[in-house]
Amino acid sequence: MRRVAISACLVGKPCRYDGKDNYAQALLEMLEGDELIPFCPEDAAFGSPRPTMDLIETRCGIEAVCNGSGVLRSEAIRAYARNFFDQHGAIDLFIGKDRSPSCGVCSARLYDTQKNLLSSSAAGLMAQEAIDRNIAAVDAEKFEGKV
Ligand code: SF4
Repeated sequence: MRRVAISACLVGKPCRYDGKDNYAQALLEMLEGDELIPFCPEDAAFGSPRPTMDLIETRCGIEAVCNGSGVLRSEAIRAYARNFFDQHGAIDLFIGKDRSPSCGVCSARLYDTQKNLLSSSAAGLMAQEAIDRNIAAVDAEKFEGKV
């Protein structure tokens, strides 16, 4: 049995920015028999619903910035990610919701400070923590059950 860390919205938690979920029935069927460990850094830190945020490449590195207010949100997300992986021990696989600035593995959008698009294949902040820990990581939309 694999221990699979998975974006909570994919298993039906209404933790998206708009208070909805991204329930992914076909994906969950491929994971039958695995131990699923859901996470949602944004809901934990900011609640749901909440304003959206974007990843911005700054002089100090990549930051998550709240749309509208411009408030930096990176540290709360990175702290959640560190704590999550520290607490849960060995994780065999990380499945992140594609395109999320927190959970997308190689599908998040990254902008410069003028909001010009730099990349559509960046890692979200929580996904980056998984990658840095050498955990196999994949976007939900690319998971085909073979990882
Ligand atoms: S993509 Fe990640 S941060 Fe966004 S709602 Fe899903 S689990 Fe939460």
